[in-house]
Amino acid sequence: MAVLELVNYGNPILRKTCNSVTDFSKLVDSIDNMFDTMYEEEGIGLAANQVGIDMNLFVIDISHTDDSEFPRIFINGKITSSDGESIFSEGCLSIPQVSLEVTRPERIIFKYQDVEEKWHEEEFDGLLARAIQHEIDHLNGVLIIDLVSEMQRARVNKEVKKIKKDSLAKLKQHPITKGFVL
Ligand SMILES: [Zn+2]
Repeated sequence: MAVLELVNYGNPILRKTCNSVTDFSKLVDSIDNMFDTMYEEEGIGLAANQVGIDMNLFVIDISHTDDSEFPRIFINGKITSSDGESIFSEGCLSIPQVSLEVTRPERIIFKYQDVEEKWHEEEFDGLLARAIQHEIDHLNGVLIIDLVSEMQRARVNKEVKKIKKDSLAKLKQHPITKGFVL
C-alpha cells in the first residue's frame, strides 16, 4: 500500500473521460492506494484520475458526518436521475487552496458496480450525493471551476493559473508519472 502523488489541474488526465473498469481482478491495489492517498491528503473523496489512474472508479469516506457504512467504493457509476438544488462550498484535492460555491442537484439516483462486479442503483442526498457528483464529474473530465459563474471563476483565477503552470512544468519534467495511462 502506498500514498500516491496527486495530479493537479493542468494535467490532461483530469480532462478525459476515464475508461470503464472491465478487469475487476486487479483493482485491490489501486483501491488501497487511493484510500491511503485520500486519508493522507484529508479528502473525503478521491477519483482514480486524480492519482493518474485511468479508470472509472472513486472512493468516498464521510464517516465524520454520516453513520452509514464507510468507506465506500463506486465503480463504473452513472447518475440516472436527479432533482432539487443546493449550493455548497466545495474544495478539490486537484485544485489546492481553492474553494467555490457549487450549485448541484440535491438528490440523485446513482447506478454503480461494487468490487464484486455487482450492480446497484441507490438514491443519495445531502453531502454524500454532492461528493458522488463531484467525483463522477472528475471521471468525466469536469472540474468545479467549470461549474461556477464567471464572477466566482475570476475571483480564483490567479490561484488556478498558478496551479496549472506548476502542474504543466511538473509534467514536462516527468512526462510519465507513475500509473499515468492515457
Ligand atoms: Zn476534486
